[in-house]
Amino acid sequence: MKALVIVGIQNDFLPGGALPVKGGDAIIPLINKLQQYFDTVIATQDWHSANHSGFASNHPGKEKFDEIYLHGKPQTLWPDHCVKDTHGAELNRMLNQNQIEAVIRKGTDPDIDSYSGFYDNDHLTATGLAGYLKNKGVKEVYVAGLTGDYCVYYTAMDSLREGFKTFIIEDATRSLSREAFDEAMSVFISAGGKCILSDAVINLFCRSEN
Ligand code: ZN
Repeated sequence: MKALVIVGIQNDFLPGGALPVKGGDAIIPLINKLQQYFDTVIATQDWHSANHSGFASNHPGKEKFDEIYLHGKPQTLWPDHCVKDTHGAELNRMLNQNQIEAVIRKGTDPDIDSYSGFYDNDHLTATGLAGYLKNKGVKEVYVAGLTGDYCVYYTAMDSLREGFKTFIIEDATRSLSREAFDEAMSVFISAGGKCILSDAVINLFCRSEN
């Protein structure tokens, strides 16, 4: 069983949003096309409260994108984004949601950020995604969405840690920084992950169906 995990296709991460990723909207048609090749499709959704500790606005004297230590861990201070129940937090309406079986909301605890769809950044609280996938019999996890250098990468690393064969669909993600993405990918590949292009996914799955 193969799962597609679609990360962060939310208005605030798209052009015009609070924390836009350049070209983020361009990958949505591709993500829509890919969904049909998977046994299960999951989406993750940042779902922060307004007082979230990952927001620069909650740290007087700090600027957006400053790096601080929070509970002893490095934390980037983000512009306010994906505040629950706002338009910015909604999955973008261009995303086909017909095949999405579950939406995993993350970053709901104001005290800690959660880049990964599986765990918070301290690895103390699970979202339930690993159990959901294991109960479905999923062995392979393919990750796409936003952003390649943060939430896609952290989700994929936790997927490996959970024992899934894990792929990042390289042309179905965009990053805040290309350099950071390249660095993240080398760590991911060293840890046993694989990068793949969407054409290869489609060819592979078409063959295995025949
Ligand atoms: Zn967030």
